[in-house]
Amino acid sequence: MSDVFAVYGASGCGRSLMPVAVEQLQRMGNDSSIIFIDDSLHTESHINNHVAMNYDAFKALEGDKHVLIAIANSTVRQKIADKLSADRISLWSVAGTNTLLMDSVKIADGAALSPFVTIASNVTIGKCFHANLYSYVEHDCVIGDYVTFAPRVSCNGNIHIHDYAYIGSGAVIKQGTPDKPLIIGKGAIVGMGAVVTKDVPAGAVVVGNPARLLNKA
Ligand code: UDP
Repeated sequence: MSDVFAVYGASGCGRSLMPVAVEQLQRMGNDSSIIFIDDSLHTESHINNHVAMNYDAFKALEGDKHVLIAIANSTVRQKIADKLSADRISLWSVAGTNTLLMDSVKIADGAALSPFVTIASNVTIGKCFHANLYSYVEHDCVIGDYVTFAPRVSCNGNIHIHDYAYIGSGAVIKQGTPDKPLIIGKGAIVGMGAVVTKDVPAGAVVVGNPARLLNKA
């Protein structure tokens, strides 16, 4: 059976990750075209010169399917990952040609590592991680499932980021230590440009320098 590759989501995230997926496939020595899947589409069309269709139409295609979920919202990403798993469709991971992975990096399926991302040594990362342009993860970090980095996130050494956390563009997170890693709790949101100097509780939203809990009006 021939392989079929797709990028799920054809909005901002998907259209930015499609060229990364194209590069990835070229490196794999595969000259197949890549399809956009987007459920807002009622009929087959073209987006940036790629065939685009909704999930039902994609599912009906023949072949061994591999899908990169290119949607920044972690809840949506998980919902789609669960649907793909139920339909026995593989998650596809992509990385830019100049994305750098150092030693002993473990990354689960479905990762989107944009160009200029660096993952340093002894890092473990869960399912469907998104690291957008110029972000880095330094040594000894542990990152959960469905975590999202906007562009240029600086995640220093010995930081643990729990499932579903979202780190905004340009945020800087202070390094922890092997005995006391800095922790970003489950589902926490770190605002863009925040400078995080201490643990962030699960579900909290922090902003500013130094990052503080956002007071909800
Ligand atoms: N989408 C989809 N199926 C879903 C949920 C979302 O095809 O179950 C698509 C949605 O139609 C939209 C894209 O995913 O085109 C998400 O775009 P959005 O601008 O919200 O997010 P981003 O591209 O920034 O992640």
